[in-house]
Amino acid sequence: MIPESFKQDLLNRVDIVDVVSRYVQLKKGGANFLGLCPFHNEKTPSFTVSPAKQFYHCFGCGAHGNAIGFVMSYSALGYVDAVKELSASVGMQVPEARPRSPEEAARKEREPDLYAMMEQAMDFYRAELKKSPRAIEYLKGRGLTGEIAARFRIGYAPDDWQALKAAFPGYSESSLVECGLVVESEGKRYDRFRDRVMFPILNARGAVIGFGGRVIGESDKSDSAAQASPKYLNSPETPLFEKGREVYGLVQARDAVRTAGRALVVEGYMDVVALAQFGVGYAVATLGTATSPVHVSKLLRLADELVFCFDGDAAGRKAAWRALEVSLPLTLDDKPIRFLLLPEGEDPDTYVRRHGRESFEKLARESQLLSEFLLGELRSESDIRTAEGRSQFLMAAKPHIQKVSAPALKLQLTKEVARLAEVTQEEAERILGLPGGPAFRRPAPARRDFRPPSSTEWKLLSRLAAYPPLAAEIDVDLVDLALDESRALNDVIAYCRGNRDNREMSHAMMIEQFKDTPHAEMLFQAQAFALELKETEEQSRLYVRHALCKLEIARKNREIKSFEERLGKGMLSREERYEHLRLISEVKSLERQLQADARAVSQ
Ligand SMILES: [Zn+2]
Repeated sequence: MIPESFKQDLLNRVDIVDVVSRYVQLKKGGANFLGLCPFHNEKTPSFTVSPAKQFYHCFGCGAHGNAIGFVMSYSALGYVDAVKELSASVGMQVPEARPRSPEEAARKEREPDLYAMMEQAMDFYRAELKKSPRAIEYLKGRGLTGEIAARFRIGYAPDDWQALKAAFPGYSESSLVECGLVVESEGKRYDRFRDRVMFPILNARGAVIGFGGRVIGESDKSDSAAQASPKYLNSPETPLFEKGREVYGLVQARDAVRTAGRALVVEGYMDVVALAQFGVGYAVATLGTATSPVHVSKLLRLADELVFCFDGDAAGRKAAWRALEVSLPLTLDDKPIRFLLLPEGEDPDTYVRRHGRESFEKLARESQLLSEFLLGELRSESDIRTAEGRSQFLMAAKPHIQKVSAPALKLQLTKEVARLAEVTQEEAERILGLPGGPAFRRPAPARRDFRPPSSTEWKLLSRLAAYPPLAAEIDVDLVDLALDESRALNDVIAYCRGNRDNREMSHAMMIEQFKDTPHAEMLFQAQAFALELKETEEQSRLYVRHALCKLEIARKNREIKSFEERLGKGMLSREERYEHLRLISEVKSLERQLQADARAVSQ
């Protein structure tokens, strides 16, 4: 559970135009922004984003939501993950809302301690590096300057089973194990990292959340030793460190990625550091895991172009293919993804040291595009000179093309596959199981045929949706609660009144509040309707008065009718007859007022 106040802060902090325009090209159109809907297939833009109201609405398919909803739908993330993504993009940390169990509370209490511990360990390792001529020699031997070592906060873990005792007098504390610095085994405790060059792993805010340790020298010690000490050792997963989400070097690379417009993904931290040393500052590394969708979407958000760089051996090719498969559902038409497979026997570190920055960047610029890599690999598996080979090629291409999210790229790939397989584009589309034309990552939401009700209550709801403070003026007793829109109106009024003093109350928050209620669609449609109305608050207020007047007349007319039924049967008392006449004259006066107002009010 995420606290309401946090959601509110978050929705106030992010700008939906920013969020959407990372994925959808938007053009300003009046007060709003317009683009091609990412959720359904269209040629003229009906996807509208309101900066003032912080929501989007597609007048084509009815997709509607706030920034959280957009990230969920677009990236196919769950609610909590979407909130986390958005929070991270504006540097906020998601708190926990549910009352904590005593153990959780205790752990939470200690969590900042874990960050502090990691920081302390980093300082210790950095100080140790200065004392170790062997480690310094090693780094120098790899061409690294003190400046780069400092920038990446590189350190050294001494060759000692309990070196951290010097930094942590409370060496027996369980939190040292919890944050992965110390290993506990058979009642003994010892440092996880020993005799290694230490690379701190930072989160987006720059806090140390883990370490990567590399053995000094190549791991071509004796085989048994290599078994016991792998070349690279990472922190285990801890409360601070989740491997599939983190990217090494992102904090240091961020500016360079923006400037170059390119992010380069390599396999090891040494590659990142070496590239930075030689002037390629936009490299980052995955952390001992294969490329994950979180990595890809994180980087695509920052960069205009993503280059995956792998060693040119069989393992590198396999890892590249895996990265390709992960990327297909995340492709964007304006952000190319490339695959750089280095010459056999090279890794980025060795290559850049041997051939220098220019040569490396030339390789990156000229590397294979995703389409080339995909089709090249698929072609290499089938002999397209034969009918069987071409059929096999089509079948092999099918699952991959289906996954491509970028509509224009998907179309291009389909055409290319059709050409290679010697079929027409239409035939290819049928065989590949593609609906005619570009298809989309998420099936378009079922076109909900929403017919706006004609009731006055619905019109009131749309004004209230546009200007929540109008809730104060609407008399709920006048509305006919038999109607769906009235029940929605009733609940929205209650919500708006409850938040009367809340200056932060926003349309985006209203969506948050109602998205899982039976009123969601009614309210969302009312918000969209209000976008089209383009009324000022004053115009809406006039309308509300006008509508309430109408409702009042309707109510009085119902009473008059019931009097008249009884009047015909001679059942009215003297007082009731007066009451009847009074109602009639009231209605007349209300009707005059209505006519007078009508000129100022749009319906
Ligand atoms: Zn749409």
